[in-house]
Order: sequence, then structure tokens, then C-alpha cells
Amino acid sequence: MSRELDSPFIPEEFLAIGQDPQSLTARSAERFGVSVETFINWRWQMKHQIAEKQQLHDVLDLKDQEDLGFEQLKDLFVTGITPYYAGLMAPRLEKAEDCPVRLQAMPRTEERFDSVGVADPLDEVPHSPVKEVVHVYPDRVAFCVAQLCPVYCRYCFRKRRDDEVGLHFNRQIVDRGIDYIASNPAIRDVLITGGDPFIASDAALDNLLSRIRAIPHVDIIRFGTRTPVTLPYRVTAKLGKILAKYHPVWLNTHFNCPEELTPEAQQAIRNLVDAGVPVGNQAVLLRGVNDSEDRMLTLCRQLLKSRVRPYYVFHPHAVEGTEHLRVDLRRGMKIMKSLRGNITGFGIPTYALDTPSGKIPIQHNYMLKEDGEDLIVETIRGEIWRERSVLTEL
Ligand SMILES: *Cc1c(COP(=O)(O)O)cnc(C)c1O
Repeated sequence: MSRELDSPFIPEEFLAIGQDPQSLTARSAERFGVSVETFINWRWQMKHQIAEKQQLHDVLDLKDQEDLGFEQLKDLFVTGITPYYAGLMAPRLEKAEDCPVRLQAMPRTEERFDSVGVADPLDEVPHSPVKEVVHVYPDRVAFCVAQLCPVYCRYCFRKRRDDEVGLHFNRQIVDRGIDYIASNPAIRDVLITGGDPFIASDAALDNLLSRIRAIPHVDIIRFGTRTPVTLPYRVTAKLGKILAKYHPVWLNTHFNCPEELTPEAQQAIRNLVDAGVPVGNQAVLLRGVNDSEDRMLTLCRQLLKSRVRPYYVFHPHAVEGTEHLRVDLRRGMKIMKSLRGNITGFGIPTYALDTPSGKIPIQHNYMLKEDGEDLIVETIRGEIWRERSVLTEL
């Protein structure tokens, strides 16, 4: 690692962005007191992950809840924020209250109080036949090879695991997981996740992909990674070329609000899509981040412009310490319903409850009643429509 830091690989496409002094990259590098070349080095970003409030001293003002949060959350849930992601936060207190980026990443005192939150909302432990392989659906598995993340999202449903050590690209976990997949011919789809699986060297990812691709019954390989959002400099054109060697490779990322779709993030997406990797988005509905009709619509429109297909919007899990971020489900339904008719059909994600038995779509019911062979439905504009002779098999 230190050798790579001494002579880092400098991705040209991000350097080009940073050469504009008005770019987020250039401005953030200046705030953190380093060169653009250093700032776009993803390993430097990981080494300088913000875990203590002193690291933000010269960068932004802390709200009282955050200042105390850094102290009070130490034993509850680790804080980690890339300088890049911190650069997206409103720096001054006047705007800090409403800052959707702060809400997702800064520790806050509110996290100590939660009336209903649980540690493992998905019961992942009993659903893992071998360590870190979650097998809920017969045809696909979630394979958690990574433990580290560029940013620890405050609402993470795996946050109970933050004090375990030695799980990140652990040789034994990877070997046993691959054996499990290889010996189960029903598995057609391997979702590589974590943690964030892109926090690994190009060589480690190349190697992992080649081993999974060598299993004949695996049709598709997918990644779940938030690096385009939290550490876009990791998603280089070079990495895109490595992924392309193992097609079909798909990827889902996790943008939650329009502010995150920076030129840097869009470059990361371009590096993937140009390499033929279809990119989808899995957002989480969060209070103050994206829980309005307007913000959700803007997010989905911006995703489409960046060639990202909105895939899921998850209703927030009742994870310990996240009550201040959770939203009433009826409010979620109303927000999601408002998209229909106002955006390209494939710009509408599925609103879903993620349960131990799988993901359950939550949808407004447009079917009002059956009338003989006819079906009475509500149109998307709220009118009544009779669709004739569609109920014919009795
Ligand atoms: C979410 C999830 C998947 C993937 O589900 P899709 O609906 O196919 O995206 C697979 N396995 C587990 C355990 C999951 O939680």
C-alpha cells in the first residue's frame, strides 16, 4: 500500500475534472490542504477517512448534535467519512441543519435513542449457510466479501458488525463462499457486496471475478457498491476495463439525493457504463434526505441523465439508532405514487420493504373491483376506468 501511495496511479479522467479550479475536486483538495493529484488518489481518501471531529476542524463547522455525536457514538457505531464526501456537506452552520449529506454520514446524538430499532432487521445470521453468504432466494446469493466502506452510512443495516475485524477480503471467507456457490448449481446470480467491495485493489477484484466467472452455472455477477457516491475516484476507467473482462457484470449503487450526483460521481458512472456495465440505483427513503415528491423526482431524473436506472427505493429498516431518519410508510407510498406519469416509465423505482424473506414491493393498488368480466381501475390521474372483458377465465 505505501508503495502505491508513493507512486500512485493517477486516473486522467478525474485529473481533468480537478484541473478546473472551480470543480468540487479542486475546491475540496484546497480545503483539505492537499494537491488535486493526492485528493483523487482513492487510497489517500481511505487513509484520511474522517473518524474524529478534529479532522474537520479546518473544513466545516459542526452542529452541537454532531460535535457531541462524535464523542457519544464512539462505542455504538464507527464514524468514517471520505474527505470527498465531507466536501459535499454544507460547510457553515446556517445551511447545516438541512444538509442531506450531513444527515447520512455525521454521527448525531439522536442515534442514542430509538424506541423500536433492532440490530439485525434481516435475520442475516440464520440465512447464511456459510459465513458471509446470504442465501434467501434459490437462484441468487449476496456474497459479503468486504467489511470496509468509504463512508459508514448512519442508517446501515449491517452496523452491528462494525467492530468485527479481519473480514475484509478474508481469504477463508472468499474461498468457502466460492466453494458454496460452485457446489450449488441453482445459483445463477452472485451479488458481491459487503461492506463496499470496491475497497480492494484492481488485482484483488480481477482475481475474485475470474474465480466466480469460472463457475459454469453463474450467469451474472453483480456488485453492490456505494463508491460512485462516496469515493468516485475509485471507479476508474481502468477498473471498468477489468469488470468488462467478465461480462455480464451488473452493478447497483446507492445515490440518495440529487446533491450526490456531482460531475465526479457522473464520471465514475461513465467509467462503468462505457465499459458495458449496466448501473442501477438502490436508494433508501430517509427523512430530510429524499422524503419529498420533489426531491425524489429530481433524484430519479438526474439518475436517468447519468444513465443510471432507478431500481429500488427501500423503506428504511428499523435499525437501532435511526428513528430520526425513518419515514411513515404511507408517506413513502404517496411520494412514490407521485412519480407515475411524471417521469419516463423506467425512471420509476420499485418501492420495497426488505424483509428476512426477501424484498416485497409496496405499491398503490390501482385495481378497484371486479365487475363480471370487467375490471374497474383507478387511472394514474385518479379517474375511474372500466377495462372490458379482461376477466375471462372462471
Ligand atoms: C437484495 C438481495 C438480493 C438481490 O435481490 P434482487 O431483487 O434480485 O435485486 C439477493 N439476495 C439477498 C439476500 C438480498 O437481500
